[in-house]
Amino acid sequence: MNRGTLFIISAPSGTGKGTIVSEILRSDPNIYFSVSATTRAPREGEKNGVNYFFITREEFLELIKTGGMLEHTEFCGNFYGTPKKAVYDKLDSGRDVILEIETVGAMNVKAACPEAVSIFILPPSLYELRRRLEKRGTDSEEVISRRIAEARAEIEKSRLYDFAVMNDDLESAIKDVKNVMSAAKKLTKLNSDMIEGVLKKC
Ligand code: ADP
Ligand code: 5GP
Repeated sequence: MNRGTLFIISAPSGTGKGTIVSEILRSDPNIYFSVSATTRAPREGEKNGVNYFFITREEFLELIKTGGMLEHTEFCGNFYGTPKKAVYDKLDSGRDVILEIETVGAMNVKAACPEAVSIFILPPSLYELRRRLEKRGTDSEEVISRRIAEARAEIEKSRLYDFAVMNDDLESAIKDVKNVMSAAKKLTKLNSDMIEGVLKKC
């Protein structure tokens, strides 16, 4: 059985990556969404074990110490990290996995798993990004300002990703990300077993 493909999706907070990823998961339930651990407080409507595992700083540090994290980082004053075992188990069972993580974590995963495919979702502008964060209404003005301040540096790092997709019109962006994911699964570096198999028959 082929191993699943590891996809990393990043975007400045408020760009719409959560909205896009939800739609991708809805249309293909076989894709596994990696539920991260975080020390940030749940937003209204967020569920433990679904959106994140909401844990204390002590629990988070213990997970790092025991080697349970594939990667972790501190972002806007909170810890975020990817639990390792679930990701590797799902990839080994042939399922594709999506990590929705920020840029530092993304680069650490790329270093540890060079076969991972990274996709950066761009907002049309910082002005529109602020508008979306305000419209979402889940963060205080102070948190929104911190996130906008981070966004420019994150967009600079988009050059390090394999693919860039702009989320201007939502439906087009969803289609673009789906197309990128299908195309990436055909990369020769992810298909050496298939190529070997054909060569054996030649
Ligand atoms: P992120 O996960 O990147 O922080 P969200 O998915 O929560 O962002 O989206 C932030 C807000 O922007 C939400 O209110 C969402 O409905 C809205 N949104 C997402 N994509 C678009 C788009 N293309 N045009 C306008 N609003 C959008
Ligand atoms: P939010 O607080 O808006 O849910 O997430 C803030 C940022 O942390 C987003 O860019 C999100 O993608 C990122 N993030 C979420 N989970 C993880 C994780 O496990 N690791 C890393 N490095 N970043 C994460």
